[in-house]
Amino acid sequence: MKITFLGAAHQVTGSRTMVEWQENRYFLVDCGMEQGINELEQGEMPVPASRIEYVFLTHAHIDHSGLLPLLYRQGFRGTIYATAETMNLCSIMLADSAQIQETDAASETKKNQRKGMKAVEPLYTAEDAAETMKLFQPCAYGKAYMVDEGLTIRFTDAGHLLGSAFLEFFLEESGKQVKLVCSGDVGNTHQPIIRDPEPVAEADYVLIESTYGTRDHDRAVEPIPVLTEILRSTFSRGGSVIIPSFAVGRTQELLYFFREIKQRHLLPEYEQFPVYVDSPLANEATAVFLQCDTSCLDEDARAIMAEGENPIWFDGLRTTVSAEESKALNDNPECKVIIASGGMCEGGRIRHHLKHHLWNEKDTILFAGYQANGTLGRIIYDGAPEVKIFGEEIDVNAKVALLNGVSGHADRSGLLDWLKHFQKKPCRVFVNHGDDDYCTEFARTVGEQLHIPADAPYAGAEFDLLKGEWIRITGPVYRKGMTKKDEGPSSRNRKDTKEMVWQDLQTALENLNRHVRGLKGHSNDEIRKLTEAIIRLC
Ligand SMILES: [Zn+2]
Repeated sequence: MKITFLGAAHQVTGSRTMVEWQENRYFLVDCGMEQGINELEQGEMPVPASRIEYVFLTHAHIDHSGLLPLLYRQGFRGTIYATAETMNLCSIMLADSAQIQETDAASETKKNQRKGMKAVEPLYTAEDAAETMKLFQPCAYGKAYMVDEGLTIRFTDAGHLLGSAFLEFFLEESGKQVKLVCSGDVGNTHQPIIRDPEPVAEADYVLIESTYGTRDHDRAVEPIPVLTEILRSTFSRGGSVIIPSFAVGRTQELLYFFREIKQRHLLPEYEQFPVYVDSPLANEATAVFLQCDTSCLDEDARAIMAEGENPIWFDGLRTTVSAEESKALNDNPECKVIIASGGMCEGGRIRHHLKHHLWNEKDTILFAGYQANGTLGRIIYDGAPEVKIFGEEIDVNAKVALLNGVSGHADRSGLLDWLKHFQKKPCRVFVNHGDDDYCTEFARTVGEQLHIPADAPYAGAEFDLLKGEWIRITGPVYRKGMTKKDEGPSSRNRKDTKEMVWQDLQTALENLNRHVRGLKGHSNDEIRKLTEAIIRLC
């Protein structure tokens, strides 16, 4: 019985782990797509897709589900087990992802044709996505499903996204039993709409994410007052608030906040402000949220519904769909909120809105989520004075703000708390789904604080779950042209002017400043180490 670490190994996206639960019988836990710029090579699947019998899905986010249609295209015809809500979200998200693949391939093909080169095949098509959906088997929370001999699964609410689950595997080979728990993404407590993550009682092995494995959220920050203040100051300048948002999860959370602001009359001077959700996918996802099994919702959301209200709908909410309507928004001078798809500004309609608003000092670009290294969102957030969008240099004059206090992920304390809830201590913890150093650091924290052996395996590593020992230990393999920490503006292909290189230095300095501020309250050792490094550098 063997676990092989393939994706999200020392990086945040592309979750994919393979388990050989009996000899020559394989299943996958998640099958996600990588996003942003990643330094490390992830693992190739050691067996053909047709040999995978099952995929178990923790949740619908594309970095956990986005390669399912490719798996199908490569020959997978097994069953995909997920909660009903994950299945419903996947049906819109995979279709959307396929459309992006097809559009990108068509535009690359056009470029190639002009150079007399070959057509570009999409990674997968809408048809692959539709066929993939036929393989889903919806499951309920809390019920054990015997999937196959020696393979039973139970889904437990992970409190990260509607339908998200911790996967509890009860495995058996040659009369020996092993309980493996895969966290997927561990939810944050007190998120609106959905329930908090549930504890899991026992496990022999735990595979846990570490997105925030080295940091704690600022719990003192309440997002609604912060959001209200950002709206007030932007509207008083006559500007608009532009929010790049993930279509599924974060957008609905924002709608919940806007309903609260309106319902509680927190912004009486601008009571009628409109909120445009410019993302067909976000609007479809909102519909899935509205139709979900209400047992998936938290008490507050259910109480609002019991009063005949809708937790994510309000007067002034406009859902634009066509590309023309989307473009027309930018000619309309009213003060407004635009939530547009493209959480890290790498694609989606947000890029059009950024082009029309970034230069305007009256407007605010509000980030409401994690911006991965190398993404346009991160570059703007890190203070670049100008950015290139659709081949055009755009000055960044708008205010750039971050909505603190929202996160779908548990922080370091949350992850440790969740691990502490295991009544029977796991005999080993594997850490994935975190930036390179965060994985290692969180594994060390688990070892030191919980006294459980913990590792952060690199892609391709294999562990024998019956013998409890490593079969293959791997190290980092950097992608072509990349070295450790090769990130940020200078890694992009561009012709550097003296001004740009100088600006990179300024941005690096600001990053250092931010990093130093973030260290406040950390251990003396950590702070001293950095102080010494800065002194050496000087
Ligand atoms: Zn997620």
